[in-house]
Amino acid sequence: MESILPREEIIFRSKLPDIEIQNDRPLHTYCFEHLLDFADRPCIIDGATGEVHTYADVHLAASRVSAGLHRLGVGQGHVIMILLRNSPEYVLAFLGVSFRGAVATTANPFYTADEIHKQAAASGARLIITESAHVHKVRAFAAERGITIVCVDDPPEGCHHFSELLQSYEGDLPDVEIHPDDVVALPYSSGTTGLPKGVMLTHRGLITSVAQQMDGDNPNLYYHKEDVILCVLPLFHIYSLNSLLLCALRVGAALLIMRKFEVVAMLELVQRFRVTIAPFVPPIVVEITKSPLMDSYDLSSIRMLVSGAAPMGKDLEDKLRAKIPNAKFGQGYGMTEVGVLSMNLAFAKEPFKTKSGACGTVVRNAEMKIVDPETGASLGRKQPGEICIRGAQIMKGYLNDPEATKNTIDKEGWLHSGDIGYVDDDDEIFIVDRLKELIKYKGFQVAPAELEAMLITYPNIIDAAVVPMKDELAGEVPVAFVVRKAGSEITEDEIKQCISKQVVYYKRIKKVFFTEAIPKAPTGKILRKVLRAKLAAI
Ligand code: AMP
Repeated sequence: MESILPREEIIFRSKLPDIEIQNDRPLHTYCFEHLLDFADRPCIIDGATGEVHTYADVHLAASRVSAGLHRLGVGQGHVIMILLRNSPEYVLAFLGVSFRGAVATTANPFYTADEIHKQAAASGARLIITESAHVHKVRAFAAERGITIVCVDDPPEGCHHFSELLQSYEGDLPDVEIHPDDVVALPYSSGTTGLPKGVMLTHRGLITSVAQQMDGDNPNLYYHKEDVILCVLPLFHIYSLNSLLLCALRVGAALLIMRKFEVVAMLELVQRFRVTIAPFVPPIVVEITKSPLMDSYDLSSIRMLVSGAAPMGKDLEDKLRAKIPNAKFGQGYGMTEVGVLSMNLAFAKEPFKTKSGACGTVVRNAEMKIVDPETGASLGRKQPGEICIRGAQIMKGYLNDPEATKNTIDKEGWLHSGDIGYVDDDDEIFIVDRLKELIKYKGFQVAPAELEAMLITYPNIIDAAVVPMKDELAGEVPVAFVVRKAGSEITEDEIKQCISKQVVYYKRIKKVFFTEAIPKAPTGKILRKVLRAKLAAI
């Protein structure tokens, strides 16, 4: 007989004590709280030009951007799309949006016109900040929808120049009253299932996440104001936006911005600017550890190497540790909907023992539990199950999608990550599998549902399913199982080409397997596990 008593929950917490987090104010106020302590210190170093912007410069410029957005008709709560590579303007645009009480939806500038359009439409963007090279992808629908375009470089006709936003203002800064639960960032993520959805991150949520990493007498010694943090990971992804930009601002560290990853340029910048913190993703680590050039540069300034956004095996971790032996290494584990779930405490003042392959321990001021995905029962140590997290840092929900929100955050406030992991006797978290559909190509999200929806629109295709295939460099790549219409001769190449035209490079289907039927549960849900097993046997 089923017990009527509430089930006992086994809850895991940080090894560090909880702290008081003042998360009832705007994000920029929190980030710049200690501005006077480091106003003249470097805030942004532009890796392309070597130009340095101090904290005072950045603070002033961001408030000007806010006034400039107001002049262009942006009001509180309006959505601005930031469609940029990493650059100083990226930082000013994001902060300007926060000052204005508006919402920044961040997108990959290399998306196709279709992908950008979908996100701009779904988020209700009113203004897009981009580079002239991408204007051709946004012009048509921007005209249709009355969206203003701002370019950070030479603006084509009909677009504004970013410098207009930077003009000094004479009392035309609008009155803004920001509520802590107002949304400030709206990145897109497919979560555990389906199409990409707008992840509503509030001022309170982001402050909490940053504080979990940086605040409280800084027992982590995570970043400090003398640090130079390499920012090669794209700021449109939560890892870079939260753990690099916002955390750096909070402590007054310098952010060395690179527009794109390139081994030699990166090593040169590390040497020249004496980078102390190097946050990577596993594919970058694969590339740099393979490069013979690594030994030709002085990388001794690096005190901390961090990896996140995708799994990093023990072998790769060991190779990296061997290349830069003086630096401490730690993995973090996070997701768009949460920020950082767990982080490594090897960096703490009194370092805790850490193991290769672990993703650290759960952050402070949060609760974590591991549940049996079938029964929902809370599991103890060393028992793999779905990782669930609760705390003020998690998203407010998915934009205009209460159903998806309900399926991700349960009634008790637990966010279900869709990742399978366990906690060992030392509280360290190990991720062992993924329950959710998501595919991660070099840390970038690929939502199978998006590709499946495209595949089944072809008249010659009856049904399709997309699953991840392991890949040495990318981690995972998307491959498709396709059921052709009887008599159809459609080829693998035709299918691959059709999809390629519609999506950014990392969502391209790498292989097509023709099959008789897609295995499904009686509910119609694709049995992805069966396909993954089939793939492993090929
Ligand atoms: P995103 O929302 O793009 O950050 O993707 C989040 C997902 O990336 C997580 O739910 C995990 O599946 C995966 N992920 C992030 N960090 C790690 C890590 N350190 N190890 C394994 N998987 C990770």
